[in-house]
Amino acid sequence: MAAAHSLLYKNFQKHPGALVESATGIYLHTSDGRKILDATSGAAVACLGYDNKRVQQAVVDQLLSVPYCHPGFYKTQSAEDLADFLVQSTHGRMSKAVLCGSGSEAVEVALKLAKTHFSHLATPEPQRSHFIARVGAWHGATLGVLSLGDFKVRKEPFVSLLAQNASRVSACNTYRGLRPGEDDEAYVRRLAQELDDEFQRVGPHRVCAFVAETIGGSASGCAMPVRGYFRAVKAVCEKYGALLILDEVMCGMGRTGTLHAWEHDDVGVVPDMVVVGKGLGAGYAPISAVLLHARLVGSFQASGKGFAHGQTYMAHPQAAAAGLAVQHVIRDEKLLEQVRVMGGHLERGLKAALLSYPYVGDIRGRGLFWAVEFVKDKQSKVPFPPSLELHAKMHARGMAKGYEIALFNAGGGYDGYAGDHLLVCPPFIVTE
Ligand code: PLP
Repeated sequence: MAAAHSLLYKNFQKHPGALVESATGIYLHTSDGRKILDATSGAAVACLGYDNKRVQQAVVDQLLSVPYCHPGFYKTQSAEDLADFLVQSTHGRMSKAVLCGSGSEAVEVALKLAKTHFSHLATPEPQRSHFIARVGAWHGATLGVLSLGDFKVRKEPFVSLLAQNASRVSACNTYRGLRPGEDDEAYVRRLAQELDDEFQRVGPHRVCAFVAETIGGSASGCAMPVRGYFRAVKAVCEKYGALLILDEVMCGMGRTGTLHAWEHDDVGVVPDMVVVGKGLGAGYAPISAVLLHARLVGSFQASGKGFAHGQTYMAHPQAAAAGLAVQHVIRDEKLLEQVRVMGGHLERGLKAALLSYPYVGDIRGRGLFWAVEFVKDKQSKVPFPPSLELHAKMHARGMAKGYEIALFNAGGGYDGYAGDHLLVCPPFIVTE
């Protein structure tokens, strides 16, 4: 049948990419005979590569037993088991999980849970309806979370539709944010003060939550928190009774070498809620989750009131079966250890190969989550103007040993900055 091109693409015309006919290990095979090494796991998703037999079998088994049932009327074993797994993975810190389909949905759910928490308190605080996010954030494409985010090209066309109850403070990004002569401690104090000032500006008891990616992802290119940063901003949240929501849709579920990115020493806080997605189901099915701290769950339960939220595909049994199998493979095959070891090779390799180039400003990341930031001038750190050219050039020139290497050009411009990053985040099964 002649291709009718009925699927709507971003450019409304022709899809710029090739047709993928099969996928094995960490490679995609296209109909024009190319073999592509997926060095970004899709968009930091396919952490087990593309043909993990155990995960495939788990999805098939679930499909043949209970493919779907109404999540409000019935429960399924795979969803119950995945929620248990996720809660247990936090060693008693989180006590409930909501299962959704995508990162955007899950962050929306976290915002609604935060709002509900304050409405259900013994002394309700209905005036809390403002969210503070960060410059350079990306929390998803649906309208609620788009108002938090800061990915200019994706946000600008829809600004008139967005909620006005969100504002942003600087993110922690030493390459861009540290002032000459300032050390990490002083930087952290300054960022915490900026957040405190923003609480004061908005009205300290109007803020529901501060929302941050533990490690900045697609819009800011692996912006790493310095030691003490999250402790300091959490203290500000606590001072004003607001919640801390960490978005680990991109950096979570093993990508940085611990299952949750907030478990690293230098993060050093337990959030009130954490959102995961992408690597949770590794692309074998769309699945995401919000994990809630025990103290929130306590207030919900004590109120005797429910959560006014429902979606057709919540706790989807096939997606849950995929997520559970992925997590069992990571545990049984000790892939977190593999991420740490391979992450060391990747860091050394990237720095040795690229750091001396005049257009490479910074190389940063953790585990198998790395970004290369390009600048027009290394001294002034002036970025190139935003463009998608880099992506196209990488596709044209990224040939090595007979295969192409697919990389992910993040960035594209957010308020106050417009530069290019390259994300390098290969599957956990990558070899040296
Ligand atoms: N949050 C973060 C940190 C993300 O990186 C993304 C996607 O890139 C999202 C949320 C949205 O997830 P999704 O695209 O699955 O809706």
